Amino acid sequence: MSERIQPTACPYCGQLVTVVIPDDEKYSEADLNRMATLECSCPAGRQQRAIRDQIEEAKKNLFMLSSDGAQNMGFEPIGDSAVIEMLEKTIELAGYGKVLDATFKLSGLGTVKVKRTSKE
Ligand SMILES: [Zn+2]
Repeated sequence: MSERIQPTACPYCGQLVTVVIPDDEKYSEADLNRMATLECSCPAGRQQRAIRDQIEEAKKNLFMLSSDGAQNMGFEPIGDSAVIEMLEKTIELAGYGKVLDATFKLSGLGTVKVKRTSKE
Protein backbone atom coordinates (compact mmCIF):
# COMPACT_ATOMS: atom_id res chain seq x y z
CA MET A 1 0.00 0.00 0.00
CA SER A 2 1.48 3.32 -0.98
CA GLU A 3 1.03 6.49 0.94
CA ARG A 4 1.25 10.10 0.11
CA ILE A 5 2.11 13.05 2.22
CA GLN A 6 -0.34 15.88 2.20
CA PRO A 7 0.53 19.15 3.90
CA THR A 8 -2.68 20.44 5.43
CA ALA A 9 -3.37 23.51 7.52
CA CYS A 10 -4.87 22.92 10.95
CA PRO A 11 -8.27 24.66 10.78
CA TYR A 12 -7.87 25.95 14.36
CA CYS A 13 -4.45 27.60 14.27
CA GLY A 14 -3.45 27.56 10.58
CA GLN A 15 -0.22 25.69 11.24
CA LEU A 16 0.83 23.43 8.38
CA VAL A 17 0.81 19.81 9.44
CA THR A 18 1.97 16.81 7.46
CA VAL A 19 -0.77 14.25 7.09
CA VAL A 20 0.12 10.83 5.71
CA ILE A 21 -2.74 9.20 3.85
CA PRO A 22 -3.03 5.93 1.94
CA ASP A 23 -2.83 6.59 -1.79
CA ASP A 24 -5.91 4.63 -2.73
CA GLU A 25 -8.28 6.34 -0.32
CA LYS A 26 -10.28 9.45 -0.89
CA TYR A 27 -10.51 11.99 1.87
CA SER A 28 -12.74 14.99 1.93
CA GLU A 29 -11.39 18.34 2.98
CA ALA A 30 -13.22 17.95 6.30
CA ASP A 31 -11.45 14.62 6.88
CA LEU A 32 -8.07 16.16 6.10
CA ASN A 33 -8.75 19.10 8.41
CA ARG A 34 -9.69 16.73 11.19
CA MET A 35 -6.54 14.66 10.63
CA ALA A 36 -4.39 17.78 10.57
CA THR A 37 -5.80 18.93 13.91
CA LEU A 38 -5.15 15.49 15.40
CA GLU A 39 -1.48 15.89 14.47
CA CYS A 40 -1.23 19.53 15.48
CA SER A 41 0.50 20.77 18.63
CA CYS A 42 -2.01 23.55 19.33
CA PRO A 43 -4.55 23.38 22.21
CA ALA A 44 -7.33 22.31 19.81
CA GLY A 45 -5.09 19.46 18.65
CA ARG A 46 -4.53 18.36 22.23
CA GLN A 47 -8.25 18.51 22.91
CA GLN A 48 -9.09 16.53 19.76
CA ARG A 49 -6.56 13.86 20.73
CA ALA A 50 -8.07 13.65 24.22
CA ILE A 51 -11.53 13.19 22.69
CA ARG A 52 -10.23 10.54 20.32
CA ASP A 53 -8.56 8.68 23.22
CA GLN A 54 -11.78 8.82 25.23
CA ILE A 55 -13.74 7.42 22.30
CA GLU A 56 -11.20 4.62 21.83
CA GLU A 57 -11.32 3.82 25.53
CA ALA A 58 -15.13 3.69 25.47
CA LYS A 59 -15.07 1.47 22.38
CA LYS A 60 -12.67 -0.88 24.14
CA ASN A 61 -15.15 -1.13 27.00
CA LEU A 62 -17.93 -1.76 24.52
CA PHE A 63 -15.84 -4.49 22.91
CA MET A 64 -15.46 -6.10 26.34
CA LEU A 65 -19.23 -6.01 26.75
CA SER A 66 -19.73 -7.62 23.36
CA SER A 67 -17.20 -10.43 23.75
CA ASP A 68 -16.98 -13.44 26.00
CA GLY A 69 -15.09 -11.29 28.49
CA ALA A 70 -18.47 -9.80 29.42
CA GLN A 71 -19.40 -12.96 31.25
CA ASN A 72 -16.39 -12.60 33.54
CA MET A 73 -17.85 -9.27 34.59
CA GLY A 74 -21.24 -10.82 35.15
CA PHE A 75 -22.87 -9.57 31.95
CA GLU A 76 -24.48 -11.36 29.09
CA PRO A 77 -22.41 -10.37 25.99
CA ILE A 78 -24.08 -8.08 23.45
CA GLY A 79 -24.29 -10.40 20.48
CA ASP A 80 -26.09 -8.25 17.94
CA SER A 81 -23.73 -6.40 15.61
CA ALA A 82 -26.41 -3.83 14.73
CA VAL A 83 -26.75 -2.96 18.42
CA ILE A 84 -22.97 -2.73 18.81
CA GLU A 85 -22.79 -0.47 15.76
CA MET A 86 -25.46 1.79 17.22
CA LEU A 87 -23.63 1.99 20.54
CA GLU A 88 -20.34 2.77 18.78
CA LYS A 89 -22.02 5.58 16.88
CA THR A 90 -23.48 6.90 20.13
CA ILE A 91 -20.05 6.78 21.79
CA GLU A 92 -18.63 8.87 18.95
CA LEU A 93 -21.46 11.38 19.15
CA ALA A 94 -21.00 11.61 22.91
CA GLY A 95 -17.24 12.07 22.50
CA TYR A 96 -17.82 15.07 20.26
CA GLY A 97 -20.50 16.47 22.55
CA LYS A 98 -23.43 15.91 20.19
CA VAL A 99 -25.04 13.51 22.63
CA LEU A 100 -24.69 14.20 26.35
CA ASP A 101 -26.40 11.24 27.84
CA ALA A 102 -28.10 8.19 26.33
CA THR A 103 -29.67 5.19 27.96
CA PHE A 104 -30.51 2.08 25.97
CA LYS A 105 -32.68 -0.68 27.31
CA LEU A 106 -31.49 -3.70 25.39
CA SER A 107 -33.87 -6.56 24.99
CA GLY A 108 -32.81 -9.39 27.28
CA LEU A 109 -29.59 -7.63 28.31
CA GLY A 110 -30.55 -4.76 30.55
CA THR A 111 -29.50 -1.16 30.39
CA VAL A 112 -26.48 0.41 28.74
CA LYS A 113 -25.66 4.02 29.48
CA VAL A 114 -23.49 6.23 27.31
CA LYS A 115 -22.56 9.45 29.03
CA ARG A 116 -20.18 12.17 28.13
CA THR A 117 -17.59 12.81 30.80
CA SER A 118 -15.38 15.83 30.60
CA LYS A 119 -11.78 15.69 31.69
CA GLU A 120 -11.23 19.43 31.44
ZN1 LIG B 1 -3.58 23.56 15.32
